[in-house]
Amino acid sequence: MAGVADALRAVAARAVSAVGAYRPLEDVVGRVRGGFVLAYHNLPAARFVSQIAGLAPSRPVALGELVERHARGASTRGLFAITFDDGVGETVREIAAAATAHQWPVTFYLPTGYLEAPGGLPFQWLRAIERHAPPVVIEAAGETIDFRPPGAIRAFARATTKIMYTRPWAEYGPRLRALADALVGGGLVPAEALAPPPAITWPEVEALARAGVAAFESHGVTHTAVAALSDDELERELVESRRLIAEHTGRECRHFCYPYGGAASIGAAAPPRVARHYRSATTMARGRLGRRALELLPRVPVYPHDDDALVRLKVLTA
Ligand SMILES: [Zn+2]
Repeated sequence: MAGVADALRAVAARAVSAVGAYRPLEDVVGRVRGGFVLAYHNLPAARFVSQIAGLAPSRPVALGELVERHARGASTRGLFAITFDDGVGETVREIAAAATAHQWPVTFYLPTGYLEAPGGLPFQWLRAIERHAPPVVIEAAGETIDFRPPGAIRAFARATTKIMYTRPWAEYGPRLRALADALVGGGLVPAEALAPPPAITWPEVEALARAGVAAFESHGVTHTAVAALSDDELERELVESRRLIAEHTGRECRHFCYPYGGAASIGAAAPPRVARHYRSATTMARGRLGRRALELLPRVPVYPHDDDALVRLKVLTA
C-alpha cells in the first residue's frame, strides 16, 4: 500500500511541477498558512542544493529571522528556514559549504554530548547494528537475542526504536552498547562497521559560526526524548547545551529542537519549560508556521530520496 501511495504522490508531485502550478499555489498557500521550516538529517550536498533551488521563488532566511516575523504576526509568505538535526560532521561540513556558496542561511541543531565525547548517538548504534548484525544467536549482558528468524533483526530494531522514542537512556543505551560489544567481541561484525559517524568538532563550529551563513542551536545534550527526562534532567540539558553552544559560537543560543520530535517524545510537560529558556522549539510534526506556538513549531521533513517535485508537494500540502 505504501508503494501505491508513494507512486500516487510522485505522480501528483510531477503534475504540480509539470504545469508550473507550484508558484501560484505556493503564493496562495503562503498567504493563508505562512512560511515553513525544512527538517533535514543527512543527504548529499548536490541533492540538497537541487531541492532548495527547486523551491524558488520562495527563499531561505535565517531561522531567527523567520521566528521573529512569526512571533510578531508579520507575514512569512515566501520565506522558509533550513534546519539540520544531529551535527554529523560530514553533513555539517558539506552542507555548510554548499549553503555558503549559495548564501542560504542554514541552522544546525547540535546534541552537545555528541560533540563533547566520541561514542555517537544511540540511534546511530541501532542503525549500524540493524545493518550489519548477522542472523545468529547473541549473548549480551545476560540476555539471549535470537537474530536467526527472518525479520528478527528488523523487529528488534523497531521495538528498540519505540523504547528510544519515549523512555530514558538506561532502558536502551546499555543494552545496545552490550549488543555492539558482543557483536564486535565475538568477531561477528568488524568494529569499523559499528563505529558511529563522527560529530562536527567544536573548532569547526567556531569557524563556521564566525563566517556567518551557518548558525548552531540546541538539540539537547544526550539526544534523549524530553518526555523521558525528569524535570531536573530536562533543565540541565536545556541550560547546559545552550551555554556550550553560545560559548563556542559567540552568539546567543535561542532555538531548540526536540530529539526525535514526535508528540510521544515531546510529551506535555516539556514545552512550557523549553519556552522559559528558548525563543522557539521545533518538532518533527509536518506543518507550516500558520498560527503555531513558538515552543511547538512544526516543520516539513525532507529526505535524500525526495525529488524536487516531491519537496514542492510536501511544502504545498504541509
Ligand atoms: Zn535528532
